[in-house]
Amino acid sequence: MLTVLNCLTTEHDHRFVAAALIICAIGSLVSTRLFARARAARRTKHAALVFMAGIAGGMTIWTTHFLAMLGFVPNVEHGFEPIATTLSLAFAMVTSLAGFMIAANRPTGPMIEVGGLVLGTGAALMHFTGMRGFLVAGTIAYDQTLVVSAIIAGAALGMLTTNRVARPNTRFCRHYGAVAFMLAIGVMHFTAMGAIEITPDPRITVPAELLSDTILASLVVAVTVLVVVLAAITHFAEAQSEADTLAHFRHLALHDPLTGLPNRAMVRDDLPRRLKEADGLPLAIIAVDLNRFKEINDVYGHAAGDSVLTQTTARMIATLEDGEFFARIGGDEFLAAKQFTLESEIEEFAARISDAFSRPSEIGKTNFATSASIGIAVYPRDGKSIDDLTTRADLAMYRSKKAQNGGWCWYDADADEDGRRRGQIAVGLRSAIADGALRLVFQPQYMVKDRKLLGFEALLRWNSGQLGDVSPAEFIPVAEQTGMIVEIGDWVLTEACREAALWPEPLGVAVNVSPIQMMRPDFADRVKEALTQTGLAATRLEIEITETTLIDNPGQALHILRQIKALGVRVAMDDFGTGYSSLSTLFSFPFDKIKVDRSFLNALGRQAQATSVIETVIELGHKLSIPVLAEGVETDFQAAFLMDRRCDEAQGFLYGRPLDTGTARSLARAGIVNDDDPARLTA
Ligand code: C2E
Ligand code: CA
Ligand code: CA
Repeated sequence: MLTVLNCLTTEHDHRFVAAALIICAIGSLVSTRLFARARAARRTKHAALVFMAGIAGGMTIWTTHFLAMLGFVPNVEHGFEPIATTLSLAFAMVTSLAGFMIAANRPTGPMIEVGGLVLGTGAALMHFTGMRGFLVAGTIAYDQTLVVSAIIAGAALGMLTTNRVARPNTRFCRHYGAVAFMLAIGVMHFTAMGAIEITPDPRITVPAELLSDTILASLVVAVTVLVVVLAAITHFAEAQSEADTLAHFRHLALHDPLTGLPNRAMVRDDLPRRLKEADGLPLAIIAVDLNRFKEINDVYGHAAGDSVLTQTTARMIATLEDGEFFARIGGDEFLAAKQFTLESEIEEFAARISDAFSRPSEIGKTNFATSASIGIAVYPRDGKSIDDLTTRADLAMYRSKKAQNGGWCWYDADADEDGRRRGQIAVGLRSAIADGALRLVFQPQYMVKDRKLLGFEALLRWNSGQLGDVSPAEFIPVAEQTGMIVEIGDWVLTEACREAALWPEPLGVAVNVSPIQMMRPDFADRVKEALTQTGLAATRLEIEITETTLIDNPGQALHILRQIKALGVRVAMDDFGTGYSSLSTLFSFPFDKIKVDRSFLNALGRQAQATSVIETVIELGHKLSIPVLAEGVETDFQAAFLMDRRCDEAQGFLYGRPLDTGTARSLARAGIVNDDDPARLTA
């Protein structure tokens, strides 16, 4: 060790040593970096990078050696023999090339270190070959231990070099690899130099045809320049390729792989920028939905679905003009944006979208017809934030879907916000039964002439956590549209019967039944089941249906009504006078009660026609022996009128609001309700 240090400090010109170390550092960094990149690359690129790494490594080893040798001042005449010197350069190149090639070839396994071993021992081989060409006026003796140490150090540090680069466990490893390579070259070289002992011998002369220091220096400078150039090329190539990789990743992250369109992440990135750029000028946000996509996917498989998508979007992309943005944000959902001055520009854009989406797509021999639903919201008119605008474009799109005419809809606050609330209702209703959010209230029905309590009409109440109390007038139509009314209606029927069965008096209970619910073939069975399950006598149950139930399929309706009546259950005609109101329905269907709609009571005394409708219905009921009930009685004037015209029954706020179950139960027991306690009343 001491010999080595001694050799380094006393026998070397430090300027050369410094230059050697600098070039060694640059070269090590370049070659290990190239080696690392070679490992990650495939085929030609891999081969080219391995070659570059090998050349750079070899040149580094060689230049370091000879720069250091130029700094070596043995105090005797000396020179470099050209053949051995050239051979040493060749050895350095070949072994370094071989080492990097072996180590770069396999992703894992011992070959990585084997390659490093070749690299390190190659450096030693180069060193001792070079030293064969180092001729002095004297003899050179080698310290065997130090020679072996130098070879072992070179080999071990060579292995460490490839090991650190190929098996990184921290992000600094690639630098550790470069440091190890630098040490491999440096430690090996100076240990080997420490091993030599020069004894001047005047009998020995240095041949004249040797390379002088100057020539060697020029050679070394040339190779050094090459190393530096290689370093520069590597650096820029790496920076470029890093930028390429980054751009590639960015593209992948922001684009949909199937269609190549911008994806939702890109929308999140891009729309705020467009909005800012629009700066108050109109910007259209367009929601596009590919119709029938789910059907194609379900019936023909995902490959067919994908193919339809790619064909459709390829047509779309082909028509895109400057400044038009078109992204895929979900399976069959797209979002477009465009700045405009005239609405006609957007109409034209929407027409192009519609056209691209409605041209048939081919899969094998089959043609798939699709179409688009398109909704347009405009900044700043329809909203100022991306969220508002996209939601509104969606709402308009749903309206366009409903219209099913392949056209597009501009957002319209009146039409669309309504649709939105219906959507919220539909979502909330889905879990209403499970959530226990539904309950029934009971509105009393009385005889007009003696105010005797006849029974109650069950009315549904829904307190949705999100929307608060929603009126059945609002949610029943949504439940009907979504089909949820069947399940809800079943629940109402059973619950009403269960409650009525608890009343101490055998009063009637009237249950509203939706047409959709009643027209199901098993409706009579469901009624029967509710009765059996709750133990309520069939004669106490009354089903209220509206005229609309009878319009579409009167034959089927009559059939079901007969089944119900066969059970002993009564059927009332609800809301009579509204809707179609043909008197013939009263003759052809076996009703047990006619309920005059409250709108007539409401108009009583203000519209002559309302008065005559009520009078006529009461009269008709008398003739057909069907009791008539007046709904919505609120005033004494109305009650007096009904009394005068001998209307049979009445129901309304004047007599009693819909009551919660407990209050209805006590009213059923006592026949009275304490009107002074408003807490007991529910509207
Ligand atoms: P409907 O069958 O005509 O029910 C009577 C409605 O008039 C009830 O409204 C009741 O609260 C209200 N009402 C009663 N007396 C008066 C009054 O004196 N003045 C005024 N202004 N209104 C009065 P509600 O409970 O909001 O129900 C609205 C509609 O929702 C019902 O009209 C019915 O068509 C439907 N509905 C309610 N519950 C159910 C149900 O369980 N199933 C089905 N299918 N429909 C139901
Ligand atoms: Ca009713
Ligand atoms: Ca009614």
